[in-house]
Amino acid sequence: MNTKAIPYYWSSIDWEKLVEDYPPPPHFDVAMAGRSDEELRALQETRFLQRVTEAWDVPFYAERWRSAGLEPGDIRGLDDLEKIPTFTSEDIKHSTQANPPFGDHQNFALQNMATPLKIQSSGGTSGLPRPTLFDPVAWEVQAIQYARAFVAQGGEVGDVLQITLTNSLANTAWCASTAAMHWSGLVPLTTGSGAVTSSVRQLELAKEWGTAGWVAFGEYLKILAETAAANDIDLRRDLSTRFIHTYLGVDTDGHLRRLLEDAWGAPVYDNYGTHEVGLVGYECRLQNGLHVNDDTALLEIVDRETSKPLADGGAGNIVVTSLHRSVPPIIRYDLKDLMRRESRSLCGCGARTTKLSGFLGRSDEMVKLRATSVYPRAAQDTVQGDERSTGEFVCVVDSVGSGISARERMTVKVEAKRNVDEKALHADMVSRLKVLFGVAVDVEIVPAGSLAPFTGLGGEGKVKRLVDLR
Ligand SMILES: [Zn+2]
Repeated sequence: MNTKAIPYYWSSIDWEKLVEDYPPPPHFDVAMAGRSDEELRALQETRFLQRVTEAWDVPFYAERWRSAGLEPGDIRGLDDLEKIPTFTSEDIKHSTQANPPFGDHQNFALQNMATPLKIQSSGGTSGLPRPTLFDPVAWEVQAIQYARAFVAQGGEVGDVLQITLTNSLANTAWCASTAAMHWSGLVPLTTGSGAVTSSVRQLELAKEWGTAGWVAFGEYLKILAETAAANDIDLRRDLSTRFIHTYLGVDTDGHLRRLLEDAWGAPVYDNYGTHEVGLVGYECRLQNGLHVNDDTALLEIVDRETSKPLADGGAGNIVVTSLHRSVPPIIRYDLKDLMRRESRSLCGCGARTTKLSGFLGRSDEMVKLRATSVYPRAAQDTVQGDERSTGEFVCVVDSVGSGISARERMTVKVEAKRNVDEKALHADMVSRLKVLFGVAVDVEIVPAGSLAPFTGLGGEGKVKRLVDLR
């Protein structure tokens, strides 16, 4: 017989303290705008030190930190942050393999069961996906992060929010629906992806039930636009879309955003997050960089090779320390995503936060071509900026030759729309991608729709752009 007391959700959170610590909208903007940089740093430092204290009880951290020469008490404030070694998803993978099933960074939580827990996971491109546990605080704060985004992006009480990601192992859809219902007064309509609710039905529901906001990946918004055109639905006339919450990927020149905004007749907002630390940044209606949830995440941008922190404005790997997570603590996690950070400033929307650039690429997808570093995802803007292409592409990397003549080769496969001059498209892609990457790459023009098996387009999770055959 189970003699453990049931850890009820309702009594596991001090709700008043939660909303005071992590203000949901509209209170977040006011709370942040009224804080000086010193006050914000003091708040971050307090939370950081609490998380460090907790982490010393977690074997994953205690062992790593001791091997780096640290002892409890050595980290006295944010000035000591750099003394703490960073970790990557590889370290989490090793922790999970050595201490199954959830790793020595989080097994403790299941052993104690002091609070309710939920398991979510990363996409996992090879082997089992990376599991992450959530306690009620991690779960609700993550939803508050999303709620801030929805309201900053124009969400209003009573708006129907159509969420076209499935509540599954991945947590974006869960975050969005919890954010809508618990923290922003939006009404979640959890249609799931096209695999769960067909794209035609998605559009019919949006039309009949008056969807005001969408949560969708950029690629799926394109599919919905094509579906609308094929089914005589006019996105601008027949739907009531006021805002779209999405993840644009590498869209430095804004081609994908413009394409989507033209098709939908509504503003499209970029966001950035990961399943372990939640929504780190979101755009507001001014679309001038991503507001950082500074009270929940401490960000560093580090040089991708030396791991040394860079000054504001420099592009490098984003390293995140979660200020709210205890199960598990996340301290100096090098996400290998390339981003740029701008110092804290007052935005025209009224919020005063650090800002992030959009996503610039994955540093672990870097390919060295004739001594030049190339990031495959960077091709997105070039491909999507050409109307003759469907916008879909995948970079295939392999090795040719052997010994001293061995080299890496990259072929960019680009989908062409029907009835276009493929020869001319090929020539233009070859020359534009050479300018973009700074080195010549092979280009292959392929039929519309043929890359879906490689990119995972239309399925759950982020679209893949690199096939590594090395
Ligand atoms: Zn703003």
